[in-house]
Amino acid sequence: MRNKLNIPFERVDWINTGFLFVISLLAIVAAPLYLWHHGIDWFQISMFFFYAIATGMSITLGYHRLFSHLSFKAKWPVKLFTLVFGACAFENSALHWVSDHRKHHKHTDHDGDPYDISKGFFWAHIGWILFKVNPEPPLDNVNDLRKDGLVMWQYRWDKAVAVGVGLILPAVLGYLWNGSSGAWAASCSPACCASSASSSARSSSTRSATPSATSPTPPAAAPATAS
Ligand SMILES: [Zn+2]
Repeated sequence: MRNKLNIPFERVDWINTGFLFVISLLAIVAAPLYLWHHGIDWFQISMFFFYAIATGMSITLGYHRLFSHLSFKAKWPVKLFTLVFGACAFENSALHWVSDHRKHHKHTDHDGDPYDISKGFFWAHIGWILFKVNPEPPLDNVNDLRKDGLVMWQYRWDKAVAVGVGLILPAVLGYLWNGSSGAWAASCSPACCASSASSSARSSSTRSATPSATSPTPPAAAPATAS
């Protein structure tokens, strides 16, 4: 089914699209409104910078360098931290992220690259997250990570971790700090981080809810070596 805008609505991933719309609306509209009416204090500033740095580092250092490219080895506390706060960036599980990213390097800018830039700026940065691909490509290039108990734990629970640590925990801390208005403000800080992180698909292989990809024929398992 096509329309005047040539958008295949039957393929739209409404969960991803709806989530990104709501979280962006919170970041763009609700957070400034809160600041206008209630101001800001060191607690909210600290929460914002902690979550911005923790989620950003967990994707770049953890999902990307550590798990996708095996650039270095890390002890379990580093793995656990990057898996927990990587989930809080709402970029899906490490297993899905790594699978997409290895496909991206193996087929850079060609068919098989989930965020192929030759399909356009919009597709490479955000469009590929908003549409489903049938059938769902298998995760057959991450067998090395399937042997890691922490990675598999996060694969099973990443949505619960994302909501629990990324939204509910800061709301509880904000409530303890300044009642219900503090809870609202504190949960906005990570929401702002998640919104910006989830919009940077090209560089960080974003996928925020149900997985989708453009390649019907995923490559064999082989970690890429380039960045
Ligand atoms: Zn890379």
